[in-house]
Amino acid sequence: MNVLIVYAHPSSTSYNAALKDATIEALLNRGASVKVSDLYAMNFNPVAKMEDTVVPKNLDKVPEDLRLEREKVSWADYIIFQFPMWWTSAPAILKGWFDRVFAANFAYGPGVYNHGNFKGKKAMLSLTTGGRHLGSYGPKGLKGEMKERLFSIQHEILYFSGMDVIEPFIVPSGVSEKERKDYIEQLKYRMAGLEHLSTIPFHVLEDYESGQLKMDSFEKVEVIKI
Ligand SMILES: Cc1cc2nc3c(=O)[nH]c(=O)nc-3n(C[C@H](O)[C@H](O)[C@H](O)COP(=O)(O)OP(=O)(O)OC[C@H]3O[C@@H](n4cnc5c(N)ncnc54)[C@H](O)[C@@H]3O)c2cc1C
Repeated sequence: MNVLIVYAHPSSTSYNAALKDATIEALLNRGASVKVSDLYAMNFNPVAKMEDTVVPKNLDKVPEDLRLEREKVSWADYIIFQFPMWWTSAPAILKGWFDRVFAANFAYGPGVYNHGNFKGKKAMLSLTTGGRHLGSYGPKGLKGEMKERLFSIQHEILYFSGMDVIEPFIVPSGVSEKERKDYIEQLKYRMAGLEHLSTIPFHVLEDYESGQLKMDSFEKVEVIKI
């Protein structure tokens, strides 16, 4: 099992760093091969030039940082993203990683969604929020539902590129120290059974017509369940 961890937090002593380290430890313990893209430590450039967003015919023109990241993505069976929620999304450096690494002719094109180029791979978001509970992200929550906040990454980037998306692991980081440690253990437990974790049952492209869900597909799956 090849697992790529994409880690987006500026501090190596953060709680996110502890979650990332626990993930690595649990995966290595079960004999998985692990690679890490520590975006801040790598000083990854998140600012896309137009030419970064499409893989050229002449591969000699691909910048070295993108060649290396795409090699890791191609190698991976699973990609785990570890990050703090910033402004109800991922830190900009991770968005920029998607902008530049998930180029046309690599992540997608000609196929998208269940026909995307990363079909067969699985991805999982592991993120932390502020506060002591996730209530603000509930159905009547102040910040709107978590599944909507994560839709642009889970559905529109990961599933768009063909990946199955494992249910996210979300920790409200303002809980007690003991609870934070418990969450670390829960994440390790998840990693021990990574291949058995349930994925989000998104609709397939064939369930839509002109971008709209067909009437007879409506009840087929619960579109985004978190
Ligand atoms: C720009 C910005 C935008 C933000 N936007 C949002 C938003 O939209 N929604 C939202 O909910 N939140 C938001 N936040 C808050 C943010 O999500 C949290 O600050 C973040 O998730 C906390 O994770 P961390 O790794 O930075 O935690 P840290 O600050 O590193 O740590 C959190 C706590 O965990 C402790 N800790 C560290 N290591 C361990 C360990 N090994 N075991 C147990 N405890 C440990 C630390 O001592 C600290 O008390 C935002 C923050 C910023 C800076």
